[in-house]
Amino acid sequence: MLRYFIKTFGCQMNFSDSERMASFLESHGLKPTKEKTNADLVIFNSCGVRKMPIHNLRKNNPRIKIVLTGCIAQRKDVQKILAKKVDLFFPIKDIHLLENFIYKKFEIKNYKSTQEKINYLSTNPKYTNTFSASIPIMTGCNNFCAYCVVPYARGREISRPADEILEEIKELIKKGYKEITLLGQNVNSYHSPSPLYSGDPPANAVTLRAGMSRTRDRGGVINFSDLLKAINNIPGDFWIRFLSSHPKDMSDELIETVTTLDKVCESVHLPIQSGDNVVLENMNRKYTRDHYLKLIEKIKEGFKKNKPGAIFSLSSDIIVGFAGETKIQLEKSAQVMRKAKYDMVYFGQTVAWLMKDNISKIEKERREKYLNEILKKTSLENNKHYLNKTLDVLIESQKNGAYFGKTRTLKNVKATVCVNCHPELVEGSQNLIGKFVKVKITKISTWNLEGEIYEKQ
Ligand code: SF4
Repeated sequence: MLRYFIKTFGCQMNFSDSERMASFLESHGLKPTKEKTNADLVIFNSCGVRKMPIHNLRKNNPRIKIVLTGCIAQRKDVQKILAKKVDLFFPIKDIHLLENFIYKKFEIKNYKSTQEKINYLSTNPKYTNTFSASIPIMTGCNNFCAYCVVPYARGREISRPADEILEEIKELIKKGYKEITLLGQNVNSYHSPSPLYSGDPPANAVTLRAGMSRTRDRGGVINFSDLLKAINNIPGDFWIRFLSSHPKDMSDELIETVTTLDKVCESVHLPIQSGDNVVLENMNRKYTRDHYLKLIEKIKEGFKKNKPGAIFSLSSDIIVGFAGETKIQLEKSAQVMRKAKYDMVYFGQTVAWLMKDNISKIEKERREKYLNEILKKTSLENNKHYLNKTLDVLIESQKNGAYFGKTRTLKNVKATVCVNCHPELVEGSQNLIGKFVKVKITKISTWNLEGEIYEKQ
């Protein structure tokens, strides 16, 4: 029996791709193994940032086949360096190359090479979690930011048909999944032509009816706002999240939808990357700092209008020291952070190809630390709003008598059971993992909340 091992690096999209590759391999008779040294086939699903630990694999097992996919697999320099260590380089969208490779390399009898294109987004994934699932709704990107390999590695943007996405989510909700995260490099520009809109809708198109009139105006194209409405209409108790958004494609219609729908969580991740217009232009981001700040204001106003009293959170990505960023330009990012009052920022020190990177690693670290101090202040300030509030929390794990989970706003929560009021919820008597509970927040810190579980839903 052939065994496979997949090692995944990088973002949620890569992890989701690996779930689809796993089920693809299993549908071809391969079985998973936890140790790469026991595997016949090892796949590295790469990210631009990390080094692949490929070196010793062949030494221990000369028959092993090694495959590289993900963001660096298509780079000619990488292919040249790893030519002797890797048997196949393939972009994830060309998963049929992997199929032909397995049959040929493992000498499977009666196999005829098909060269048929398989849509990897349509393959059923092997979900690694039983209550939270990431669903790719599109792949690729048309934006060509100066620091990013995605448009070259994944190709141009392709949206998955809306009805296929809805079917996958409906099945997950039937199985009791509580959290659905829609993935794409730029989900804001999702657009799917759907047969459900090409004439009178069929009787089973009820989940899409909310967005019907507007999509007809657009000639049958379903945009991201319509897709969110359709998912929100699926019956069941679950949360909707999405990643990642591009400020140039965040329309007023989408802000209205995101801040209104009851299942869409009150947590918006909107990467700014830099607060300075010249740096943004160097990055080829196609928006200005003012445009971004206006979006933040609209999102805040939207939540206040559509979900009065609800706590919401904002997060972003910022690259420090990008291609000669001056201290004045860094200060512009600091100003945006103070205005936006983020709950979380993911800092990067990425460089741009073909641009001079004259800022030392030490200086980039100093800049990141400086911005992180601003983040710590705004996050702590925001967390004060949670004190004494009772919130829905999705429990993810349990350790030493406490449960750990997240709020709709993506805050980490440590929760203990109120023993006197709910003896039935004491550890061991109930498994709360993968369930929604109500937690009264009694303590806050910069990154975490703590409280007592009051009720299981
Ligand atoms: S929008 Fe995102 S995925 Fe696309 S090129 Fe820019 S950083 Fe890369």
